[in-house]
Amino acid sequence: MKNSRRYKAENKATGEVQAKKALGQHFLTDESVAARIADTLSGSTTNVLEIGPGMGVLTKYLIPKPLNLKVVEIDGESVEYLHSHYPSLEVVEGDFLQLPLESLFASEPMAIIGNFPYNISSQILFKVFENRHLVPEVAGMFQKEVAERVASGPGNKDYGILSVLLSAFYDIEYCFTVPPHVFNPPPKVNSGVITMRRNAVTALECDEKLFVKVVKAGFNQRRKTLRNALRVLQIDTSVLPEELLSKRAEQLGVEEFVGITKCLESEICK
Ligand code: SAH
Repeated sequence: MKNSRRYKAENKATGEVQAKKALGQHFLTDESVAARIADTLSGSTTNVLEIGPGMGVLTKYLIPKPLNLKVVEIDGESVEYLHSHYPSLEVVEGDFLQLPLESLFASEPMAIIGNFPYNISSQILFKVFENRHLVPEVAGMFQKEVAERVASGPGNKDYGILSVLLSAFYDIEYCFTVPPHVFNPPPKVNSGVITMRRNAVTALECDEKLFVKVVKAGFNQRRKTLRNALRVLQIDTSVLPEELLSKRAEQLGVEEFVGITKCLESEICK
């Protein structure tokens, strides 16, 4: 029997949620991994939002902790499962990407945790970046490639837009790797668990909107030197030192991007 058909038949028999590919559903079956993920939370933020609890394998290890826990789940079948197995759990039924985060804990900060839906990993991380004032901590599992990208530094082949934007405001740690066979159904890739904790930076020393544009422009043509990659911004880049113009985005750290943004700002203000 094909794998997907076997899972369907098994799930029907046990009353478990049937995995839906379109929702990035890969349920964790190894509870020791769930417990380890739950333990990566520092506990210093009491409000916690879990994204995509599915059948609650990770939730189960969060419930006993002294936390103010809410979960957001898009799949109606999973929501029903959670209501019947965890009656006192606060479940928000909906799409995390559409959720106004201020509405969850009366505008108080929250930690975010999850074995995240891999099909929307980047969107989750961009939303965290945009709401960084409300999200002091993130802990959870992504596909390994994304986890590595987020945690990597300049010069690394995985280093990219999210690495720079997030590391400007978060200390990021790659914790451990999880193989496909501990999920049902197993994903095609390895997974990686990371933690992100807000650093002390409250604001960058430059126009943050322009900073984001510079980082995106730099990496959108990552093989090109900054001289060429930044052309799309239509700003005169001749104010930048030659030494920087001849480098590629993947060679630069947050501070260098801040420096570049500052120089370009003065050019715009002329
Ligand atoms: N945490 C569970 C399930 C992981 S699969 C476990 O470890 O077993 C990813 C989960 O995210 C699924 O339950 C899926 O329905 C949910 N999900 C997918 N897209 C979502 C979205 N936009 N908002 C909230 N939940 C989402």
